[in-house]
Amino acid sequence: MKVTDYFNEADGRTLISFEVLPPLKGGTMKSIFDVLDPLMEFKPPFIDVTYHREEYVYTKNANGYYEKTSIRKRPGTVGICAAIMHRYGVDAVPHLICGGFTKEDTENALIDLNFLNIKNVLAIRGDARRFDSQFVPTPGGHSFAVDLVKQIAKMNKGVYLDSNIENGAQTDFCIGVAGYPEKHFEAPNLDIDLEHTKSKIEAGGDYIVTQMFFDNSKFFAYVEDCRKSGIDKPIVPGLKPLTRLRQLRSLPSRFYISMPETLAKEAVKCKSDEDVKELGIEWCISQSKELKQSGVPCLHYYTMGDSDTIRRIVEAVY
Ligand code: FAD
Repeated sequence: MKVTDYFNEADGRTLISFEVLPPLKGGTMKSIFDVLDPLMEFKPPFIDVTYHREEYVYTKNANGYYEKTSIRKRPGTVGICAAIMHRYGVDAVPHLICGGFTKEDTENALIDLNFLNIKNVLAIRGDARRFDSQFVPTPGGHSFAVDLVKQIAKMNKGVYLDSNIENGAQTDFCIGVAGYPEKHFEAPNLDIDLEHTKSKIEAGGDYIVTQMFFDNSKFFAYVEDCRKSGIDKPIVPGLKPLTRLRQLRSLPSRFYISMPETLAKEAVKCKSDEDVKELGIEWCISQSKELKQSGVPCLHYYTMGDSDTIRRIVEAVY
């Protein structure tokens, strides 16, 4: 079923969903099931699986010189989606990125997803590879998420890259896109970023999932700005609890978000990471309750491999 159909069926009730990331190459599905098994009692209608582009690594060769090679450290998104659907009977939402894909690779990936009866995709651009100063599109691939959305929307109309294909099967993907309550870091300002988000919706995006944030007022202001700009699709808040003191710096630097003063002040007073985790759980519970109260369609939790913490939060909220 489509993510947006779940929202419509819920009729104003706030759903929950989880996001997992594929294990490092060499890992097994067990690590995913270990995260999801304890969370399934909360009946998430869908689970997102992130996609990870190839990365550059430097390895020493026999002559003692370093060679730059590229490897995909976390492959397996589509297989994981299939395994999740098979084990739990819920929908899986693969993230599909522009980086590393030609348009034809994208088309072929979408055909695979369609054959697997996967009804939803989150269409995103992807970040710059490590050691690249900015995002470099793959030759023959897309530069921005909006172009990926357009390609998926065309396949939904039966239009394939090869114009010789007549009466091509129409896919029926529900398309999610990313949104940034605190602005995407490359955008000159919030208004311009919002224009770009709007273009993803106009191109065929069906709903928005946001970057994590720790200050609900930023999310509420973002929703208001979206509505003012004419974006009328569901907006799902993405949530991740603070669990370690060092995340006070690492989360803002990695995800370009800010930490509210009160949370930061309380965190530095903590005597151990265990105390920070307790504070982070309480903070996330209170964020979740307020968001639920405001009538968001869904609370989307970035699990990052930590089901115990997410479990405690969801238990307190539902
Ligand atoms: P875009 O919408 O293309 O925007 C990127 C930047 O370009 C923005 O600054 C935007 O304002 C600007 N822009 C957009 N269109 C134009 C245009 N036409 N002209 C000029 N500028 C433009 N990354 C992964 O690698 N794998 C994942 O699984 C993954 N999942 C994510 C899930 C969520 C919910 C979120 C919020 C992010 C996720 N990311 C993931 C990170 C994401 O790939 C990065 O944030 C990336 O830098 C931007 O992706 P986007 O889809 O928002 O890009």
